[in-house]
Amino acid sequence: MELLKQKVIREGIVLGQGVLKVDSFLNHQMDPFLMREVGREFTRRFAGEAVTKVLTIESSGIAPGIMTALELEVPLIFARKQKSLTLTEDIYVEQVYSFTKQVSNDITVAKKFIAPGERVLIVDDFLANGEAALGLARIVEQAGASVAGIGIVIEKSFQPGASRLKEAGYRVESLVRIAALENGAVSFVEEA
Ligand code: 5GP
Repeated sequence: MELLKQKVIREGIVLGQGVLKVDSFLNHQMDPFLMREVGREFTRRFAGEAVTKVLTIESSGIAPGIMTALELEVPLIFARKQKSLTLTEDIYVEQVYSFTKQVSNDITVAKKFIAPGERVLIVDDFLANGEAALGLARIVEQAGASVAGIGIVIEKSFQPGASRLKEAGYRVESLVRIAALENGAVSFVEEA
């Protein structure tokens, strides 16, 4: 997605440890026009998948998630990140290790929001090791629903997330794919 690629080139800041900061349009300040285009692009790519709900994780997944849900005309659910849980009867819980924060969080979704048989599209801002997306997929499957696909705004292709998700059998669509973050510069995977 050229618009998004140009935004990453102009505004992305390469931090150490393979982290890209995009707080001017996705992770702090958000660009609604760009998010609308992201929602349209995911909708175009997953048009044949009979999606009934979009699922993301708070907080940075919510903007691309809601715009995708709006275009697909289905609800958005965002999984909550929680430290410690006591009552877990009415919620699905999965443990997810955070790449950027280096801690494990429980992520939760209320059972009443995913019915058996639903087709759930998972959307997230970044794909690194695939922990967040795999945790969300496990929740969908716990509910007896199926994963319609995984839509990623920025994939860091030098980390194993995309191959882990594809090996697990999921269809992954990433709007930009980053080959490397080295010496302060972003390089992209060449599109075929
Ligand atoms: P994964 O679960 O695939 O290892 O990491 C994806 C999650 O970590 C995303 O939800 C995102 O919030 C965060 N993340 C991973 N890498 C980056 C990065 O380079 N920049 C930013 N801003 N977030 C990242």
